[in-house]
Amino acid sequence: MPTTPSTARERTQVRRKPERASYDFEDAAAIVDEAIYCHVGIVRDGAPVVIPMVHARDGRRLYLHASPAAGLARDARKGEQVCVTFTLVDGLVLARCGRSHSLNYRSAVVFGTAARVTDEGEKRRALEAFVEHAVPGRSEHLRSTTEREVREVDVVALDLDELSVKVRNGPAVDSDADRALPIWAGVVPLGLVATGPAVTDAEVPDGVAVPDHVARWGERQAAGFVARPSYM
Ligand SMILES: Cc1cc2nc3c(=O)[nH]c(=O)nc-3n(C[C@H](O)[C@H](O)[C@H](O)COP(=O)(O)OP(=O)(O)OC[C@H]3O[C@@H](n4cnc5c(N)ncnc54)[C@H](O)[C@@H]3O)c2cc1C
Repeated sequence: MPTTPSTARERTQVRRKPERASYDFEDAAAIVDEAIYCHVGIVRDGAPVVIPMVHARDGRRLYLHASPAAGLARDARKGEQVCVTFTLVDGLVLARCGRSHSLNYRSAVVFGTAARVTDEGEKRRALEAFVEHAVPGRSEHLRSTTEREVREVDVVALDLDELSVKVRNGPAVDSDADRALPIWAGVVPLGLVATGPAVTDAEVPDGVAVPDHVARWGERQAAGFVARPSYM
């Protein structure tokens, strides 16, 4: 994690292990781009709710989308504050005692005001970005999105401005005495990978092969599409 001149605002200040924190946009953007989904937190009628969603990023704009009847779309019509969290779990950190077990991770927390995107051009670009975010190279293979399809979805944007990043990377932090014990300790690397080759839909006509952008998806992830930190 590069050192950064950016500083925390009051609600983004990481208090525990602040040396693992960054408030730098680029650090956050790398996590946002690698995460395939996020969790959107909001307070509704005085109680918190946290909803998993997919997302896309264009520069400093973060996009979410939902049916106009969905809670997020209603929240955006009211210009509500949201908190969006992105989590990449990189490893199980196994220590010599239960208390020192941990995870290696990269996470980002973003605060902002959810705003409905009304500009049709921006909305279309965002809809394409959701597909490209999950499967780069796919959009050009698809039929065009119709005007009705654009109308039938709400796109919500917020600025990637008020944010924090936290990264844990490395072995267990055991005491000197524990490190001398004959107990295995180490890291089990974790990540999001394809669990098998793509399964072709039964109604795909004969002769339509799995395209490269699909076949490459698993390879891209396994090879570390975004350079993962080394663990040991
Ligand atoms: C997958 C995963 C599992 C975790 N499990 C635990 C657990 O079981 N127990 C535990 O105590 N901690 C856990 N953590 C760490 C946890 O996320 C907090 O960092 C930690 O609780 C200390 O928070 P705090 O008191 O410093 O900040 P808080 O007072 O909780 O939050 C203040 C601000 O700090 C920022 N912030 C806090 N944590 C993060 C973060 N992880 N990433 C980005 N910004 C952050 C936010 O902007 C937040 O508004 C886990 C982290 C991850 C990614």
